[in-house]
Amino acid sequence: MHQPSTAPRPSLYYPYRVHDAWLPSRHAADDRKKVVIAGSGPAAMVTALELARHGVPSVVCTAELQFSQGSRAICFTRRSLEILQQVGVAGRMSESGLPWRFGNSFYRGQRVFRMEAPHDEDDRFFPILNIQQQYMEEYLHDACAASPLIDFRWGNKVAHVAQHDGFVRATVDTPAGEYALDAEWLVAADGGRSGIRSQLGLQMEGASYEGFFVIADIRIDLPLPTERLAYFDPPWNPRNTILMHREPHGIWRVDYQLPEGETPEEALRPESMKARIDAQLEMIGFGGTPWEMDWSSVYSARTLTLPDYVLGRVVFTGDAAHLLPIFGVRGANTAFQDAQSLGWHLAYTVKGLASEALMRNHSTERVGAAREIIDEAGKSTRFMAPPSRGFRLLRDAVLSLSLTQDFVRPLYHWRTSRPHEYSHSMLNSPNDDNARFADGPAHGAPPRNVKLGANDHLLDHLGGGFDLLYFTAQGAIPKAVVAVADAWRARGVGLRITAVVPAGTAEPVQGADQTLGDAQGRVRLRWGVAADVEAGEGAAYLLRPDQHVCARWLALDADRLNVALAQALPGPAIPTATPAPGLVCVPVSGPVSGRVVA
Ligand SMILES: Cc1cc2nc3c(=O)[nH]c(=O)nc-3n(C[C@H](O)[C@H](O)[C@H](O)COP(=O)(O)OP(=O)(O)OC[C@H]3O[C@@H](n4cnc5c(N)ncnc54)[C@H](O)[C@@H]3O)c2cc1C
Repeated sequence: MHQPSTAPRPSLYYPYRVHDAWLPSRHAADDRKKVVIAGSGPAAMVTALELARHGVPSVVCTAELQFSQGSRAICFTRRSLEILQQVGVAGRMSESGLPWRFGNSFYRGQRVFRMEAPHDEDDRFFPILNIQQQYMEEYLHDACAASPLIDFRWGNKVAHVAQHDGFVRATVDTPAGEYALDAEWLVAADGGRSGIRSQLGLQMEGASYEGFFVIADIRIDLPLPTERLAYFDPPWNPRNTILMHREPHGIWRVDYQLPEGETPEEALRPESMKARIDAQLEMIGFGGTPWEMDWSSVYSARTLTLPDYVLGRVVFTGDAAHLLPIFGVRGANTAFQDAQSLGWHLAYTVKGLASEALMRNHSTERVGAAREIIDEAGKSTRFMAPPSRGFRLLRDAVLSLSLTQDFVRPLYHWRTSRPHEYSHSMLNSPNDDNARFADGPAHGAPPRNVKLGANDHLLDHLGGGFDLLYFTAQGAIPKAVVAVADAWRARGVGLRITAVVPAGTAEPVQGADQTLGDAQGRVRLRWGVAADVEAGEGAAYLLRPDQHVCARWLALDADRLNVALAQALPGPAIPTATPAPGLVCVPVSGPVSGRVVA
């Protein structure tokens, strides 16, 4: 019988709450669920919240009774905040996190590189926000608890998974014994040591790097700004690397590489950690400052992925699907992108709005993303912890040269996690004008945010389904375009038309669900649409529910919109390519629901 710990985890700053276990007496045996999700980390909870946005209920089964131990992921990227905005928790993250954009690399006491992450007023969020993972999990959990479509079951460990014809049976172990839980789909978001992955005998592909790092979270008052600090080859830990990050609640992360041959057990001895942290504080000029240990752990860098994330009706996501080095903040940030992708692909499949080809697309896209990340993260990892004599020689040459030569300094660049672009996705429209745009987000790219007004950004208005951004100075969206949109909506596809209008337009555009004023022409500029309003008339973008671009046109017509939607939703029934005349004449006069944001 599964007996999760009921003692609150120790922490100097986070008050762990132990939740009651969900007991099988509440389960109706013949109740087949749409989706069961194993785990309650970021991948699991964002998947559940995304499914709920698309109207699909899920059961979240999580082994423990409380949030994860220790701060774990602490740096969240702008794109992650944009994803969290979609599921309603970016506000709480921003209120309690520490935003930053500068990184400093030191070698032999000299700062040899200062990284400046781009940030301007069009960005609602900073490039990075530091906050401990427990808070992120708490905010996501509160959002899940508020959703009537999410059934959250603490203390429910998925012990076994069996695939049947058209459904999956999970054997769930609880403090009151086991029960069988059937679902059309099971999402394995059970983390890096995924028991489901092992039980199904799946092998990951890739590499594991030698060498260990200690993560130590200490409570200390350091009068330093929130910036990333990296120290290469410091006198107290020669040949190795140390990273420092400020966290909220007076906590600092000190992350240091172990000398070759030292075991994790040796490294985690309290006296060993004390000596090293004291040496680091001494080196940066804060020797003698009192500090307390909150949490420590050891990790090694791995670049591994499953070759396919969909096995029958079991889908792997987050760390269960891949293990990525945390350099460049790739753990939880990648999990958010996985989950955002999985949420809509699975929802549209479950609702019968697309065939299972859509799930194959999810796997292809996210395995491609993991492979790109592995390539990039491998470069960072080899720089931070050279895996061979050759790499070390090269790294040491860069370090020495950087003391005097500017040109080598950008080699320190940290290659921070960034969203993968699905440039070759099968969902991208084959006959649009993608190649004819000179600028703007191309096929598969994430959207570009734009400031529209005080505390008002473009992405605040998008998401939750497909979005058609239509650039116009006319008073109405062409009726044929609206008719195509209506035909897809009638099938149950979420599709919102947003008219982007030039300065001085006061009235909502008829046929649009909302009208956004582009007072400064910034939306046109950032999205590569002609500044000349007449020349840009009818330019349009189609965004998938994860906000990535799947089609764009210099001038949209209804047929091409229909083709693009059919391409993005491979499935059985597609509305007629040219809407029947009766359908075209959808009345768009009278009151409109859109609003103008000037
Ligand atoms: C020590 C450490 C430090 C880290 N530091 C960083 C960092 O600095 N930056 C960064 O970006 N990332 C970091 N990470 C990685 C980051 O925490 C993960 O990438 C992220 O949490 C992955 O999210 P996930 O949802 O896939 O998995 P997890 O967060 O691991 O969640 C897995 C969930 O599954 C549950 N579970 C496990 N087995 C079962 C089961 N059989 N049935 C039901 N539930 C189950 C677990 O209780 C947990 O809720 C760190 C990880 C660790 C371990």
